[in-house]
Amino acid sequence: MNTLEHLMQVMSKLPGLGPRSARRTVLHLLKNRETTMRDLTTALSEAMLHVKTCSTCGALDSQSPCGICLDSTRDPHVICVVEDVADLWAIERCQTLRGLYHVLGGTLSAMDGIGPDQLHIPRLIQRVVDGDIREVVLATNATLEGQTTAHYIAEKLKPYAVTVTRLAYGIPVGGELDYLDDGTLHAALHARLSLQDAS
Ligand SMILES: [Zn+2]
Repeated sequence: MNTLEHLMQVMSKLPGLGPRSARRTVLHLLKNRETTMRDLTTALSEAMLHVKTCSTCGALDSQSPCGICLDSTRDPHVICVVEDVADLWAIERCQTLRGLYHVLGGTLSAMDGIGPDQLHIPRLIQRVVDGDIREVVLATNATLEGQTTAHYIAEKLKPYAVTVTRLAYGIPVGGELDYLDDGTLHAALHARLSLQDAS
């Protein structure tokens, strides 16, 4: 396989890029060899050398502990538990929760042989034991695996004096009831709020 074919093959394995968009990306890079391609090459090698996994929360950063763990403006009493770093980034974009994180690295799955030890759950429990943690927000995905994992963690945290919460499910902002799937509508009805309590 020649250099060009090899590059296209590697590119086509990236998430969101099929063979066609891989070819277009490679072509774009080669046409902009001295600008985009050079910048990308530098950025990739720097990331490969310097990005590490935070030893405390599991986030990705150029330092460990990461910038979030070291940020003194955050609430150190709240830990938001997510499946993946991408979920952490999504929650960060909202800027609603200014606490700490814990990245599990996946979900419990008997089928794939993924148990609590593969998921950094013991380390989460340890953080709750060691630190002055008041709330653990379980922000796992609304999938069967995500919910099973959240339930398992909630059970494990029961002996400790910590409030365990989870994300509310329901109607997307701007959403119309008629377009919702039954599962979402069911969850929204189940988690309905009193208007008197809502602020
Ligand atoms: Zn961290």
